Amino acid sequence: MKEIDIPIETSAAKRRTNPLARVFDELVRFCRSRSMFMLHYCTGCGAIELPPAMTSRFDMERLGIQPMVTPRQADILLITGYVSIKTLKRVILTYEQMGSPKYVIGICSCTVNGGMYWQSYATAKQLDQYLPVDLYIAGCMPRPEAVLEGMRKLMDRIRSGEADGWEDYYRRYDWYLGNQQHLFGDDWQTPADVIGEASHYDLAGPGTEGEHTRLLQQCQKPLEPQQTFFQIGGSLEKKGESHE
Ligand code: SF4
Repeated sequence: MKEIDIPIETSAAKRRTNPLARVFDELVRFCRSRSMFMLHYCTGCGAIELPPAMTSRFDMERLGIQPMVTPRQADILLITGYVSIKTLKRVILTYEQMGSPKYVIGICSCTVNGGMYWQSYATAKQLDQYLPVDLYIAGCMPRPEAVLEGMRKLMDRIRSGEADGWEDYYRRYDWYLGNQQHLFGDDWQTPADVIGEASHYDLAGPGTEGEHTRLLQQCQKPLEPQQTFFQIGGSLEKKGESHE
């Protein structure tokens, strides 16, 4: 996969020159870092360390971090272990449904390099090839103390403006999409309009569109409304599948 060389804006370069605007930006970042809704996508064994991290002994909520059940209101996506290729599709769909700014934490060594599944044909090895990971918490599995320390680190990075993986996703979308297509096939598509969002946030750049987004446009099919069928009572009995 060809790496796209895009100049990276440092957090210092992104700071506005107007002192009042800078104070305002700092206040916004401070508030954002102290009130985070976390969507925990429990993909592997590392998820087992989350209940103790959330409950009374370690009590993650005192840091302003609270579990959230829907991607629409979540700020952090937590991937808690190995990710199979099928699951990775769902993880990407979930990430793209979250509103920006959004942050990704990879928990467990399996998200860093595949861990003990590094030879598996069915597992994605390196999460940051497909999604912008802001922070990894390595370990097999990391203890709740390590999870909390990682959260604190993310809070610091949000406050200083360094947690900008979501901006990278818009700026280098073609590269991320290329890796996704390599794994899932040329007809891979999601409902999100990532290029439109990149323009909305003024983050569209030379790496946003390219050969892979062109391929997406060629293969893209209009999304069909989902249909749900119910089979109740009589017809089930007719087929001899009654559970009564
Ligand atoms: S790093 Fe260890 S604990 Fe975590 S998902 Fe992989 S095998 Fe499981």
